[in-house]
Parts: sequence; structure tokens; C-alpha cells
Amino acid sequence: MNRTEVHKFGGTSLGDADRIRNAASLVADARADGARVVVACSAMAGVTDGLVALASAAAEGERDRADTLLQGLRDRHLEVCRTLGGDGAATAQIEAIVAELGDLVAAAAVLGELTPRTRDRILSAGEKLAVGLFAVAADGGVPMFADRFLETDGAFGEANPLGGVADRHVVAALKPVLDRGDVPVVTGFCGRAPDGATTILGRGATDFTATLLAGALGADGVTIWSDVDGVFSADPRVVPEARVIPQLNYREAAEMSYYGAKVLHQRTMIPVSGPGIPVVMRNSLNPSAPGTVVDGAFTPGSHPVKAISAIRGQALLSVEGKGMAGVPGIASRVFGALADRRISVTMISQSSSESSICLAVRDDEVASAEQALKASLRTEMSRGDVEEIVVRRSVGLVAAVGLGMAQTPGVSGRIFGAMGRAAVNVLAIAQGSSELNVSLAVEGRAVDAAVTAMHGEFGLDRLDTGVATERFLDLMLLGCGKIGRELVAQVLDRRAHVFERFGLHPRVVAIADRSGFLFRPTGLELDELRQVLDAKAGGGRLADLDGATAGTPSDMVRHALQWRLSRPVLVDVSDSESHEAFLDAFARRCDVATANKKPLAGDIAVYDALLGAAARHRRLLRAEATVGAGLPVVDTLEMLLHTGDRLRSAEGSLSGTLGFLMSRLEEGAPFSEAVSQAVSLGYTEPDPVADLSGEDVARKAVILGRLSGLAGGDAQISLQGLVDPGWAGMAVPDLVQRLRAEVDEPMAARVAAAKAAGRSLRFVASVSAGRIVVGPTEVPADSALGMLKGTDNQVVFTSERYDDRPLVVTGPGAGIGVTAMGVLGDVLRIAAERT
Ligand code: ADP
Ligand code: ASP
Ligand code: MG
Repeated sequence: MNRTEVHKFGGTSLGDADRIRNAASLVADARADGARVVVACSAMAGVTDGLVALASAAAEGERDRADTLLQGLRDRHLEVCRTLGGDGAATAQIEAIVAELGDLVAAAAVLGELTPRTRDRILSAGEKLAVGLFAVAADGGVPMFADRFLETDGAFGEANPLGGVADRHVVAALKPVLDRGDVPVVTGFCGRAPDGATTILGRGATDFTATLLAGALGADGVTIWSDVDGVFSADPRVVPEARVIPQLNYREAAEMSYYGAKVLHQRTMIPVSGPGIPVVMRNSLNPSAPGTVVDGAFTPGSHPVKAISAIRGQALLSVEGKGMAGVPGIASRVFGALADRRISVTMISQSSSESSICLAVRDDEVASAEQALKASLRTEMSRGDVEEIVVRRSVGLVAAVGLGMAQTPGVSGRIFGAMGRAAVNVLAIAQGSSELNVSLAVEGRAVDAAVTAMHGEFGLDRLDTGVATERFLDLMLLGCGKIGRELVAQVLDRRAHVFERFGLHPRVVAIADRSGFLFRPTGLELDELRQVLDAKAGGGRLADLDGATAGTPSDMVRHALQWRLSRPVLVDVSDSESHEAFLDAFARRCDVATANKKPLAGDIAVYDALLGAAARHRRLLRAEATVGAGLPVVDTLEMLLHTGDRLRSAEGSLSGTLGFLMSRLEEGAPFSEAVSQAVSLGYTEPDPVADLSGEDVARKAVILGRLSGLAGGDAQISLQGLVDPGWAGMAVPDLVQRLRAEVDEPMAARVAAAKAAGRSLRFVASVSAGRIVVGPTEVPADSALGMLKGTDNQVVFTSERYDDRPLVVTGPGAGIGVTAMGVLGDVLRIAAERT
């Protein structure tokens, strides 16, 4: 047997003749695919609002206004009918409905009263007019009025369908039409009262009509056509960066609509969740978009929060009194009193001390709710058990919705953090007992800010990777030279440890060099990563690899962070000017760990901009490896500053290479020979002049000065290198030759002079208030610096607390291994902070 599908078209899909034609063609497509189709049809866009206005004009006796509105409706529908090529019967149907509306309006105006019954009859006319037009446009379309067969309890304005009875009558009405191969085009929004009157099911209820019909017919699927590409992670009018959610569980969809997501009527999922009929939300203006599937599936461990929705126009009532604790039944009386007046409570939050109950109701019902509570709690109030009932108006409720929340600790904490940062005052918080939502009451004017902040907090503005991401630590690598390679090796090596310690799987999602980048939102496979690193080691360019994209580091950051990565960290192990990429990362809620000195040691304006952006976006910028490789230099500095100590100076030997040279000189080696030895041991940069000129040390000292606050933008810097930077670019043998001729002798003399005075010559960087001095310096032979040997680094901190006996950090400070370790340490600190 063929599939049966219900297709619902909202007013947004039925704005004019073209849209109606387009909707009819979508039905034709489904039929061409072999489906039996039932259409649930809303009124044309804006028509129900027009009928609401018509009804109030009638109730207020404003005949002229009512006539104008009615003429407008008539003209619009006749015009569309003509455009669609409707025949006399179609026109006559429109005239009949309009004539009846005229009678209803006249009667109401004469009586000076509009009963709920008459009002519902008036409101249902929009759908009745629309099915006629749709049937004209759709092949085989048969207009059908649901107020003839969709049985309800007759609660005007918000009627409920009568379960089994309604189902039987729906089948009886629709089946013959389907069986003869036609398309029932059914009015949404309305039903039949037990006495045969017309009732409506509530604003926006055509979605509900569609699923009711599907449930009754045991249909295979429902498609709800609207003007958006699916259900978004938040109302796209409030959060422009909101994304379409590919799949929602019935309960998630129901929760979202309960909390105000207009895209679906609140009761839509009731008829379909039991039998498991899937509902697809699609865009009639963009039918190639896949839309959102709503079904029974739920993948445990997926994102904890899928969407944020909000209800406006609420008020909070709080019943307060210390005497309430332990008095049984107060809560049930509160809710009973509201239920008696049919006031629905949208949120409840009770303080754990039981001394207050706080609940939210619609703002326009709060006066009535307050009266009801005062009447019902009269005794407790006179006894003083209940001290007062406080009303707060103009409130909104904002809810984070997702089934994954139940398994994920800390969601409320994240929400509170996000609210704090967005300066939104939280008035009350409630966690639904289903743990499917956490909802907050906030001031009405703060609703948009709260929605936007929560949306950002849970990364909902990013593309879905299709894989649960909560348990990953996503690294984006800038640079894949020796340090990058070593870092990757260390990360892979320590995966088990990182998981044990932080509950996170580190993975490399992106890698960039100067030419371009590779990006995999779910992480690069090990093999691929190895190939990339091998290709790089062989001198290749990333941009030439399969699947790579040409572009700058900033391009990589912007591209990668469109996706919903998990705790993304940008790791800079390059030696480029990467500050732009850092700024892009901060602005997209990504932290940065850098071993690259350039962004921090260059122009002070750049440094200030980086720190400012990190602070503004509450991001971390960690740079341990820029000063002492793996040595905890920056860490120690931060510790001193955090504990309120006042730093006086930091000085030391910040270059393993220069330290090695100084030790060799002291042992009597000629300078040129020491340099050539350092080169062959791999201690130097490819061009040794980069080390010998002292520029690299000066950069470290500048960073130390900036981070410590001792020597900022206006610091005096004096650098005296061992050779002139102008010597750069020579071949190593030529350099050694020239050193022998020009430097060996004076250097040996300096070393000897120092020795004679009981001192040692060291290459020292010294940072003090407003001053940075870098160069060869004589230090007492028995001082910490004087005793330093080989490639070890050292920093000596002198502060208020560490005064006569300074704090000394010393140890291996050069080399690929320890540098990569320093970066990894920063990455893990970031992970710890973000877990
Ligand atoms: P229809 O007339 O087709 O029933 P509605 O106007 O009732 O359409 O619902 C669609 C509108 O809902 C969208 O145009 C959008 O502005 C709004 N909306 C609010 N929240 C969401 C959301 N989370 N996802 C998608 N749309 C939403
Ligand atoms: N036309 C009705 C309304 O505007 C029902 C619907 O569109 O779903 O509320
Ligand atoms: Mg709607």
C-alpha cells in the first residue's frame, strides 16, 4: 500500500497566488513519489489576524471598520481565486463564506456582544476560504471543513479533540476521498463542538490539526511547511546566528514550543509521539533544504542543550512567608486556586527552605491570579504564615532545552555564568523534573540578551559536526614545524592521561602553515595527521595536500570556528605574525596557547589589543613557552602577582644556546669553536646569528616585562648582542671564519677579566621598573646565575617577599621537547579551566 502523508501549509506558505501554486506543486511532487496526500491548510498570511480585528470591531459595534475589513478580505480572496483560474463554484464559495461573516458581524453588532461561540465561527473563516483556493490550485484537491468531522470538547477558543471519536470520524470523512485518489484539503485550526458548533483549537493550531489527522489515519509522516529551513536553535529573528537543528526528539520539540518557539504549536507532538510518526519541518520557499526531523530518536551523549526558547509577557508571583515551611498543602492550594480560574502556570520554582513559592503566569492574568491566591490563602495570611504575595510584571522566561542535559552535570552553572557575563539579572530558575529544560525568569527587556548569551554559551551558533562533541578537547594548530610535530607526538602519547585527568579526548581538528590549512570538524585521523607532518618535514606545503584549503591562519580560525567544536584551543607553534588569528579566535570563544613570541613581543598596541580582546571575550591567552620553554616562568610570575606580592625585578639567562656558549667560553674554548659546536649539536637556530644577536632573548625579556607589568609599552630597552644582527644570512663556515677573525680574541679577554675579578660572564636579560637590559654581563661567580651551567635557563625573581633571597626558577629551557611540553601544559590548563 502507498505511503500516506499529511502536508501542512502555514499562512507563511499561502501569502498570495504564487505561493499557493508553489504549495500545490509540493503536494504534486509528493504524489508523484507515490504518496497519498492529505493537506492541512492554514488561512492565508495575516487573515486570522484580520478576522480577530473584525471580531473586535463587531463586538465594539464599529460597523464601518468591520465592513472595511470584510471587504478587504473578500477582495483579496476573490483576486487570488481569479489569478489561480478558479471557476464559478469557487467564487460562489468565497461569497458564501463572506456573506456568513457579514451576518455574524451584524448580529454581534446589534447585540453589542460577541460570544466565544460566534468569535470561533468568525475566526474559522480564514481556513475555510483558504481550502477553497488551495483546491483550485492542487490537482485532485477536495476542500473539506474540519468543523464537520473533527470532534472536540467544544471549549471555545482552545478546544480539545475527543480522542478515539475524533479519529473515527476523521477516517470516515477522509478515507473515501483518499481511496478514490483525491487529495483532501482540510481546514486547520478548527473543529466541531458536541452540539455541532464550530470551535477553534487555539492560535497557530493548524500544526496540531495536521498531526491529529496523521494520528487518526495512521499516516507514515507529516511535513510541516513554513517559511524557515526548519526548527532553529533559537528564534532566528532574535539570534541571527541561530542554526537549523537537523533532528529533535518529540519531547525536545514539545518543550521548545511550550517555551514559546512559535514555529510549532504547543500540542503538535501529542498525536504523533505515541505511534512514532515522524514530523519534518521544511521551508516551502526552499524545498531543497533537508529541514528538521522530529521523531523518537535520541542519541545519549549528544549536545546537552539543543535550543533556546523564550516566552514573553509573563509575570512572577511569589508567595512568601517563613511560617510556610512545613505547613502541608500550601503549594497544592496555590495551584488549585489558579487551576479553578483556568490560569496556567508556566514555571514553578520553590526555594529549598520552603519559605517561598515562585510561579510564572501570563502577564494579562496576573491580577486575577493574585486575587485567587489572596482568597485561597486568607487564613494563612491572617495567621502570618504567609507574609506576602509579591507580584513582578513584565517578565520573560528563557529556557534551554535538550534531552542530553540529564546526563551532563554543570549545565545550570554554565547558564548562570553566561547570564553573569551578559549582565542579565536572573529572577528565578527552575529545572523541569524531566531534566529536559532549565528555565529562567528574567526581566522582559533582558530576554533577547539572555537568549543570545545562552545560545552562545552552548555553541549553538555553530555548525553541527553530527558527532557528540562534549568530551573532546579540540586543538587547532598554527604551524607544523619541529615544535608542532613534537607537540602532536606528545598529545597522542598522553591521550589516556588527559582523558583520565580531564575526561576529555584531545584531537587535532585543524592544522595550518603559511600556505593554507586542513580542517576536519571531527578531528584528523591519526594516519592523515602523520602524513601531513611527514609531508611538512619533507619541505611540502599544506595547501598542496588533498582536501586542504589555501588561506591564512585567520581564515583557518574563522572557518573552523563556524563549527560546534568542543573546548577549542588555538595553539600557535609558528613564528609568523599571528595576532590577527588570535583576535579572530577570541571573538569566537576560543582560547589561545602560544609558543610564538611575535604576537606578544611586537608593537605594544598589538599586545594591548590581544589582552583587551581576551579579557572582553573572557578567553585565556597562555604563553608559558614564549619565555622559558617548559620552565614555569610565567606560572611563577602569575603566582607571585596573584598572591599580592610586588615584583621588583626579574633577571636571568633566557637562552639555552647562549648559556651553552658562555659555559664553553668559561672552560676556555674560543668563541668561534663554541659556536660551531653549538651548531653541530643542533642548539642554534638555522641561522646562528638569530641567537648571537640577542634578539630572541630580547623578545623574551619584553614579554616578561609586559606580563609582569614591570616594563610595558614605554620601557627603555637596551640590547647588546654578541654579534651585529647585520651578519645574518652568512653560510655557517663563513660565519665561523669571521667570528674567529673578529670576535674570539676580545671575547676571551672579557671572560678572563671577569674571572680575575671573581666574576662570571653571562648573557643576561634583566627586567626592572621601566627598563629592559639585555647583553653580556658580569655576575658574581657564586651567585645563582654565576653557577648556571650548560643550556639550562634561569630566571631570578626579586620581590617584596623574595627580597634578600630571591626566588629562582632554573632548569632545561631550550629544545624542542621541553618547548612542546610547555605548550601542552598551557593547553591542559585551559582544558582544566573549561571543564
Ligand atoms: P506558519 O504560518 O507557517 O505556521 P509561523 O509564523 O507560525 O509559520 O512559524 C514560523 C516562524 O516562527 C518563523 O518565521 C520564525 O520567525 C518563527 N520562529 C520562532 N522561533 C523559531 C525557531 N526556534 N525556529 C524556527 N522558527 C522560529
Ligand atoms: N490561521 C491560524 C492562526 O493564524 C492557525 C494557524 O496558522 O496555524 O493562528
Ligand atoms: Mg504556525
